[in-house]
Amino acid sequence: MNGIPFRSLRSSAHLARRAPSATKPTFRHCNTASTPQSTTTPTTTIDLPDLSRFNKNKMPSKQINAADFPLLQTCLTDNKEWAERVSHENPGFFANSAKGQSPFLLWIGCADSRVPESVVLGRKPGEIFVHRNIANQFHHNDDSANAVLMYAVGNLGVQHVAVVGHTACGGCLAAHGAPKPDENATESSALSRFLDPLIKLRHSLPEDASIDDLIVANVKKTVKTVCESDVIQANWKKAKETGTQPVYVHGWLKDLSTGLIKDLECSEGPDF
Ligand SMILES: [Zn+2]
Repeated sequence: MNGIPFRSLRSSAHLARRAPSATKPTFRHCNTASTPQSTTTPTTTIDLPDLSRFNKNKMPSKQINAADFPLLQTCLTDNKEWAERVSHENPGFFANSAKGQSPFLLWIGCADSRVPESVVLGRKPGEIFVHRNIANQFHHNDDSANAVLMYAVGNLGVQHVAVVGHTACGGCLAAHGAPKPDENATESSALSRFLDPLIKLRHSLPEDASIDDLIVANVKKTVKTVCESDVIQANWKKAKETGTQPVYVHGWLKDLSTGLIKDLECSEGPDF
């Protein structure tokens, strides 16, 4: 895709490599001497079951009551208490929130339940626009991701996009151990198709690349892919022509063992 070249906002960072080792994998960050270490060994990954046999006969559904499930009822009760607490501490918050939103950040993160963007950044509702999927990917042919980016940049005027990976990512774990995608495969699932680019990225890395290397490489690749999108390219061209503020794209990584988010220092902006 042609367009405005992009430049790193900081010094260029390189993927940390780890020598082959029989020891437990530890997380390696790029371009930093103070490297947080993952203290947990990844134990879960994502299964890629063959779902084709389930597609033949659809199972009928029936109406049920969410209230019959105690855990869900507890969630609704907690929501009521939360809304009452917010209203008490900040009268008018929800009335103002209902009028519109002006988030400053688009978060492109993993769907993993341990990385809830507003919670981990300590932000209120209305501050972060969100797109989350398996392993925080951005594909040019993904209408959902592109529509979110278009709306966030074009309509809401976000100033920053943060691509956020995390340690022990199940999507990266699955991709790390997967063979090269079979281009001639006749059957595939949505999950396996979505992971294909991540599996190809894994096979573009050295054979001894660790899962943590793949997690960092995936964030950096996604930052580049977002910068190459039509939406960001159009934003940068408009910024150059009109002098408006361009959107900047950043790469972060959350360490599940500490709760801390690390800036991978691979931020990009337009080169003008
Ligand atoms: Zn993940």
